[in-house]
Amino acid sequence: MTPADVLHVWERAVGGSHPARAFALLRLARPADHPDDLVRLSPGRRDAALMDLRARLFGDRVEAVAQCGACGTELELDFRLGDVRAAADPAEPETEVRGHGHVVRFRLPDSEDLLAALHPGDAGVTRTGLLRRCVLQARRGRRSLAAEELPDAVVEVVEARMAELDPQADVRIVAGCPDCGQDTEVLFDIAAHLWDEVHTWCRRTLWDVHLLASSYAWSESDVLAMSPARRHFYLEAVGL
Ligand SMILES: [Zn+2]
Repeated sequence: MTPADVLHVWERAVGGSHPARAFALLRLARPADHPDDLVRLSPGRRDAALMDLRARLFGDRVEAVAQCGACGTELELDFRLGDVRAAADPAEPETEVRGHGHVVRFRLPDSEDLLAALHPGDAGVTRTGLLRRCVLQARRGRRSLAAEELPDAVVEVVEARMAELDPQADVRIVAGCPDCGQDTEVLFDIAAHLWDEVHTWCRRTLWDVHLLASSYAWSESDVLAMSPARRHFYLEAVGL
């Protein structure tokens, strides 16, 4: 993977939605795999591949900030990706749950579902859209139900089972607050975190290209082909 590969993915996905960016990063992580196969991966499998990519690009250690749920103080998170890797892959693609008098058969979502169901700014519509795609059959007694007819309590049972079956998609970090002593559970979204890092890295790299191209009349590909050490030297040499 070259700096040009990372920039190429970034420029194509920078205007996209969260699932579109996550999928673009997944293609960068697994270049040998066909996109039709990658799109079928569950969110947990996708996130496992994104964690591998993150470790290759920026290392295994993650430093991030979150807010205390009790008092709002900024919490510093510091952990290793190895500590939040799920032991197991998703068990079976389809499964059935029973609860509150309902029987629901469903499959785990994949990237295509996440993209198709997305309604930016409306989490409720996104959630219903995802259920409509992933619920294969639902009944109460002998009556068949559509996904959107399921009561909230049953939807919660389905979602909880989805999270259990695909644990890598649901990484939670518990952080203690130094001010009030309360623990806060923080959802760690590797796709969003890695995208932010790639975005910052790409902008910084393009600034380096701009500065060196202006000073030495080198081309973008000349600058991108340099090792970080050599690029750093020339940036110092031109007093930046
Ligand atoms: Zn607090």
